[in-house]
Amino acid sequence: MKFTTKVVHSQLKGTEGIHSKATPIYQTSAFSFTSLEELEGFYEGKSPYLYTRTGNPNTDELGKMVADLEGAPAGVATSSGLSAILAGILAVVEAGDHIVAAEDVYGGTFHMLNEELKTLGISTSFVDFTRQEEVEGAILPQTKLLYSETVTNPFMRVENISMMTELGEQHSLKTMIDNSFATPLLSQPYLKGVDLVAHSATKYIGGHSDITAGVVVGKEELIQKARQRVVNMGSNLSPFEAWLTCRGAKTLALRMGTQAKNAEVLAKELHTNKQVKNVYYPKYLSEKGHGAIVTIELEKHCNISTFFTSLGWVKIVPSLAGVETTVSYPLGTSHRALPKEAQEKLGINTHVVRISLGIEDAEDIVDQFCKAIEASVK
Ligand SMILES: *Cc1c(COP(=O)(O)O)cnc(C)c1O
Repeated sequence: MKFTTKVVHSQLKGTEGIHSKATPIYQTSAFSFTSLEELEGFYEGKSPYLYTRTGNPNTDELGKMVADLEGAPAGVATSSGLSAILAGILAVVEAGDHIVAAEDVYGGTFHMLNEELKTLGISTSFVDFTRQEEVEGAILPQTKLLYSETVTNPFMRVENISMMTELGEQHSLKTMIDNSFATPLLSQPYLKGVDLVAHSATKYIGGHSDITAGVVVGKEELIQKARQRVVNMGSNLSPFEAWLTCRGAKTLALRMGTQAKNAEVLAKELHTNKQVKNVYYPKYLSEKGHGAIVTIELEKHCNISTFFTSLGWVKIVPSLAGVETTVSYPLGTSHRALPKEAQEKLGINTHVVRISLGIEDAEDIVDQFCKAIEASVK
């Protein structure tokens, strides 16, 4: 099946002889049994559900759906993107192990690695993944995992996935990629040999800014371990949120198709705008598009506050991937907690704006941004 077909047909099949078209919501904390034999059957693998923290049809539907879209055999849904990343990482590493991660990973991931996992005895080196020798040079005898993102934030660097998988193979390391920005429509890292692929389903998989959820996919054996982490740490997703996420995901191909087109149009337009110093948008991600986030740096003489207040229907939102076009301010939000030197090294300054393209008409979007830029010129 092609992606656009798969995305609307990866749904749970047949429930209890009632043929509802949409998947029912199993809004229950536990499942009941009519006899001790039946209960025993759960432990013998004859019936799949016992208690929602350990498994639920709706969360399973989401895990399977994303696995399907990524071309992976298994997946597990979790309470957030970060808990999916954590479950995936802890399926590979334990105390004493070491991770080599890209220095430009998502802020939340950076803090999890640098604060939480560090105190548990798992260390991470953050290096420039555009330099293979830096990545290779950071590998220690106790290194177990290479970690990066398909497209990084906010400067839209596209990861060299084959560099990662080759190094992984040479040094017997697992590889893991956060594919939230690209989505499986534009990139399928598992099919390129990456062991674990994580998503903040809060973003494009859900797509409607109404849930917080995560999924990690990969081979059955690793996902089994990740699932055990989710069960033991209590980072399961609620059935209703899993249901909403699956509902949102059905239109992933339509949404991302339009959003990526809009991003391309806006990036081109702003490239020719004299008040825009830099436009960051991937040159190439896939033949289906290059993602739906465009980051710009305005010229220093532009008044950044006036720019933000002149955006009309484009709201300031410290997230991304909804159907509405929104803007965020990396210096004030996502990268706020980074040390000043790190902000400077990455190029995050007062005039950097990240734009998450929605599904509106491209002409209206371009018009709104051009007006706000014009207003910001002092
Ligand atoms: C938002 C985001 C996360 C974290 O996801 P949550 O659902 O907020 O936990 C991780 N990685 C990337 C790239 C993100 O954009």
